[in-house]
Amino acid sequence: VSDASEPLSGHLRRLIALKGPLSLADYMSEAMWHPTLGYYATRRVLGAEGDYVTAPEISQMFGELIGLWCGVAWQSIGSPKPVRLVELGPGRGLMMADALRAARHVPGFLDAARIHLLEASEPLRVLQRERLAGAEISWHENFASLPDGPIVLVANEFLDALPIAALERTEAGWRERLVDTDEPNGRFRFMLGTVPSSAEALLPPSLASAPLGSVVEVSPAAIGFVAAIAERVVTQGGIALLIDYGPAVSTAGATLQALRHHRRHDPLDAPGSADLTAHVDFATLARAARETGAAVYGPVEQGTFLARLGIRERAERLQAMAGGEKARAVRLALGRLIDPSEMGTLFKAMAIAAPALGVPAGFEETGSAES
Ligand code: SAH
Repeated sequence: VSDASEPLSGHLRRLIALKGPLSLADYMSEAMWHPTLGYYATRRVLGAEGDYVTAPEISQMFGELIGLWCGVAWQSIGSPKPVRLVELGPGRGLMMADALRAARHVPGFLDAARIHLLEASEPLRVLQRERLAGAEISWHENFASLPDGPIVLVANEFLDALPIAALERTEAGWRERLVDTDEPNGRFRFMLGTVPSSAEALLPPSLASAPLGSVVEVSPAAIGFVAAIAERVVTQGGIALLIDYGPAVSTAGATLQALRHHRRHDPLDAPGSADLTAHVDFATLARAARETGAAVYGPVEQGTFLARLGIRERAERLQAMAGGEKARAVRLALGRLIDPSEMGTLFKAMAIAAPALGVPAGFEETGSAES
């Protein structure tokens, strides 16, 4: 137990003593977002010195291709002026910086684009402001406060950071995993709720009769965001690209993980000291989006998606321009982004679009495989 996390652990113990065991979603929200003691308030999150590395941190190629994708997406919705270029959870702002540089090649796009970032972390907003100096940007606390108009929206590793509920199938039915203190040592441990949970309504139909003992995670927050995005593109026009990690088909299993200094860590040990994420359930999110009338494309594996957008060609150019050590770094980065043993297959891209726009770049056909 690290010193820095002691105050938050104490706070959580008092909360549990007062109110009883916490839902996993409440535990995650406190661990990540407690205004003074939480992970985002206290720690340098991303990058080589942080706790985890994301695709935009691995290589500029990632953000560049996303930027070109955004420009082409804008054309596909009729090149509206203005267009809201929205990013959810921009981290250190690298993806947007690389995207804006590449998007200069799409005539008229940057003149039309108004940049809106949804970011709840004040320290990360500061980094974003520095990284994107020179661009005109507005920040938002929540999705509903975005001004009206068509959107081109991107989010990388945003949904995996949202709170989840974990349900376990017992003889008595589905019960929610709650976080309790383990007296007398004061550590945290899981226990099962004794009454049915409202999260049960979000279970994917394909897993409703999973074997006894199965654990299924659901994210009301992720479903809420995706439904809001889908409704927005249907009513006001636009398209969204969501990239994250998780299976294409809803799958049972506890995937909540904590990363600290690039190492796995027990999610219940020293809350606030590690980043908490869980697999994204693309099939459930696709269903939520389709219910609003939006078209859903994918998910497509990240390796396939980036290859279709031309990452190999981009890597070759960068290697030729750089040479030597730098060329080697580009080759390594390419592998990390697209190889199946790295991020190539676990990570996936899914698009949500106003109906009847046609297939977005990098996708094939309306994916309705998971019903
Ligand atoms: N997209 C970045 C960072 C991913 S980390 C990258 O790929 O490197 C998750 C990001 O989402 C962080 O910027 C975090 O502060 C933000 N975030 C997580 N939950 C949020 C919420 N509920 N509202 C707004 N931002 C949130």
